[in-house]
Amino acid sequence: MNLKKKPIDKILISACFLGKRVRYNGIVQTLESKLLQQWQAEGRLFSICPEVISGLPVPRPPAEINQLTKKVITIEFIDVTSQFANGANQALLLCQQHNIQFALLKESSPSCGSNTIYDGTFSQKKIAGEGLTTQLLRQHGIKVFCEDSIEELAELINCSDPTS
Ligand code: SF4
Repeated sequence: MNLKKKPIDKILISACFLGKRVRYNGIVQTLESKLLQQWQAEGRLFSICPEVISGLPVPRPPAEINQLTKKVITIEFIDVTSQFANGANQALLLCQQHNIQFALLKESSPSCGSNTIYDGTFSQKKIAGEGLTTQLLRQHGIKVFCEDSIEELAELINCSDPTS
């Protein structure tokens, strides 16, 4: 009989969810969640900020995906597509190195968004879409969730909310 325990599912997580100061505006915005605390204690979490790891500073000008060109452009009209693509590649590499099949990423970010993104006009309007990192991870079979679907992720990895 094979008594080998199934290895725990690892999760790639947006660094900003863990309270790291990586957001474009420099403001810390931790995701308060008992599940996250549990997963962190279990050593499941691998955090990354695709934008900071690609060399972009904190703070940095906001950027959005232009819907015509699909390029990532800052509010100052600088094309940062290559930095965003590099960050996406580094996130994928981290997943591949650690056999990570799941990701919990911040909704609406031009890197991390998984259901919505801003429409590229800097008018606070959201549209259906994915950030560059989410796109690349999904192309490689990694399942991406956001803060609103954390319970779904917990169910999938068979790990219920410790408070319920
Ligand atoms: S790129 Fe992702 S991890 Fe980095 S600050 Fe934006 S949402 Fe958070």
